[in-house]
Amino acid sequence: MKSLEEKILREGVVLDGDVLKVGSFLNQQIDTDFLFSMGEEIANYYKEDKITKVLTVEASGIAVAVAVAHCIGVPVVFAKKSMTINVHGELYSAKVHSYTHGNDNQFIVPKDYLSSSDKVLIVDDFLANGKAFEGLIDIAGQAGCEVVGCAVAIEKGYQGGGDKLRSKGIRVHSLAIIDKMSPAEIKFRK
Ligand code: 5GP
Repeated sequence: MKSLEEKILREGVVLDGDVLKVGSFLNQQIDTDFLFSMGEEIANYYKEDKITKVLTVEASGIAVAVAVAHCIGVPVVFAKKSMTINVHGELYSAKVHSYTHGNDNQFIVPKDYLSSSDKVLIVDDFLANGKAFEGLIDIAGQAGCEVVGCAVAIEKGYQGGGDKLRSKGIRVHSLAIIDKMSPAEIKFRK
C-alpha cells in the first residue's frame, strides 16, 4: 500500500532495538481516515473468504482489527494479556513472547467468543518474528476455527516471521513490508 509506505517514511521513527515507532498515526495517536483505508484494503483482499470473525491481541492490534472487521461486517475478538475481573469461565490460552516488552505473556480468550463454526482472519499492527500471530493461530486452533489468513499493517520482512508463516501455507497479507531499517533509511520490499 503505497500510501502506508509514504506515511512510514514521513512519520515513522526508527528506535533502538529494531523498533519502528508509528505513534503519530497508529500506535498512540490514530489517524482514523487512514486507519479505515487500511481496513478496506485488507477486507478487500479477503473478500471471497466468508470470514465470520477477526481475531487480534490487545492493545495495539485492536485499532487495525476494528477497521478491518467493520469493513467486512463481522465482530472483533481480542486476546487479553492478563486475567482481569471480567475474564471468567473456560478459556483458550497461549504463552507468547513479546517482541517490544521482552517478556512472556499469556494470551487469553474466553471460549464463549470463538467456535468451530468460525472462519477467522487474524490481524495485528506489526509482524516481526511472528510470535504474536503464532499465539493467535494456536488459540484459533484450540477453538477448532478455520484460519483464513493473517493480515498486518507493517511487516518487518527481514525478521523472518512472515515468511515462516507463508512457508506453512498461511495466507499472509501485509500492507507494507520493510526489508531494511535503520535510523538513516527504511527500504520496502518491491
Ligand atoms: P512478533 O510477535 O511478530 O515478533 O512481534 C509482533 C508484535 O510486537 C506486534 O504485536 C507489535 O505490537 C510488536 N512489534 C514488533 N515490532 C514492532 C515495531 O517495530 N514497532 C512497534 N510499534 N511494535 C512492534
